[in-house]
Amino acid sequence: MYKSNDIIFKYIEEESKRQVEGIELIASENYVSEDVLKAMGSILTNKYSEGYADKRYYGGNKYIDEIEKECISRVKEVFKAEHVNVQPYSGSPANLAVHLAFLNPGDKTMGMDLSAGGHLTHGFKVSISGKYFDSVSYGVNEDGYIDYENVRKIALEHRPKLIWSGFSAYSRVIDWNEFRKIADEVGAILVADISHVAGLVAVGEYPSPVGIADVVTTTTHKTLRGPRGAIIMCKEEYGEVIDKAVFPGLQGGPHNHTTAAIAVAMNEVLSDEFKEYAKQIKKNAKVFSEELIKMGYKVISGGTDNHLFLVDTVGSVGKSGKEVSDILESVNITVNKNSIPNDQRKPWDPSGIRIGTPAITTRGMTEKDMIYIASIIDNALKDSSEKNIDSLRESVKQFTKKFPIPGLGI
Ligand SMILES: *Cc1c(COP(=O)(O)O)cnc(C)c1O
Repeated sequence: MYKSNDIIFKYIEEESKRQVEGIELIASENYVSEDVLKAMGSILTNKYSEGYADKRYYGGNKYIDEIEKECISRVKEVFKAEHVNVQPYSGSPANLAVHLAFLNPGDKTMGMDLSAGGHLTHGFKVSISGKYFDSVSYGVNEDGYIDYENVRKIALEHRPKLIWSGFSAYSRVIDWNEFRKIADEVGAILVADISHVAGLVAVGEYPSPVGIADVVTTTTHKTLRGPRGAIIMCKEEYGEVIDKAVFPGLQGGPHNHTTAAIAVAMNEVLSDEFKEYAKQIKKNAKVFSEELIKMGYKVISGGTDNHLFLVDTVGSVGKSGKEVSDILESVNITVNKNSIPNDQRKPWDPSGIRIGTPAITTRGMTEKDMIYIASIIDNALKDSSEKNIDSLRESVKQFTKKFPIPGLGI
């Protein structure tokens, strides 16, 4: 039955309103610029271009080739990478392409445990990376830090062909060189997945694994503040296997509108403003975590060196991560429930939450605003009566009016 699309556009309006009136603390989210949105919403989505620039399986790719080449050259400039592939549809397919490039089904791979802060695609058992490959994992210590001696021990015992470093929920700095040594000791390919910290890495606010790891993958939509997509960077010698794994190994035609939007985002990353932005993300995360600690909350590893931190909500307020995230959602604050290291509870109802500052920093919030948000969180968790929740939600709505988000009305 043919229908009007009004309902879809109405929901987009409602979602815009939700984004405007809420405080977004999900560490993997951000607000892209109008230029990024413009490129993403362009007619480039109409075009098929299987293959790579100057080697396409379809005609009519004159301009698409230029866009992809320009995008690759900007990524190389930002990350000082040797070889770059900008075609992966998103972070998960990028990581699957890396598995495909270096492993046969059943081969050994090793990554950080999901409950310790790793990602599904680093060998978690229900993911294809843990089903089609023989995956082993390493975790963190009681204090929340990676214990490299333990990583080495597991690597020596299992001798994986691929070692994954990188995370979705780890608030500290990774010692890429230490991973390099471990990979060399067992003859493994080292992959660094910088999806979360790519924006910080791009401007020197987090150490770069480029030139240390054999392969570096990243999403483009988190701290990098681009469209949903991904990039694989590698040493020249692995360029061919990586490209072949992405296409024709795993994907068909690239999403050219996304490629164009990644190019636009890379240009923004090269601006002075982005450098300031990345610094402010870290300052905000630090002040935010310190404020919660002052109020008696248990922050995993005692703080943060990047854009995120984890709170043990069971240990802090006797509520599970899910309960806390539900209460906060009712006052227009969005966080995600998250396992904490050595969590005794299940992933769908874990013991903590993850808090990140990339999105609210894009909106222009600074240290004093972190202190304010921490106080709202504490208030909502200590008194979740309907009256208090209603009044806090009103305060949040008023507060967010001061911080516009880009791209409304496009
Ligand atoms: C977000 C993330 C991914 C996956 O990205 P999607 O675009 O959601 O598929 C992969 N690895 C890490 C470390 C991530 O944080």
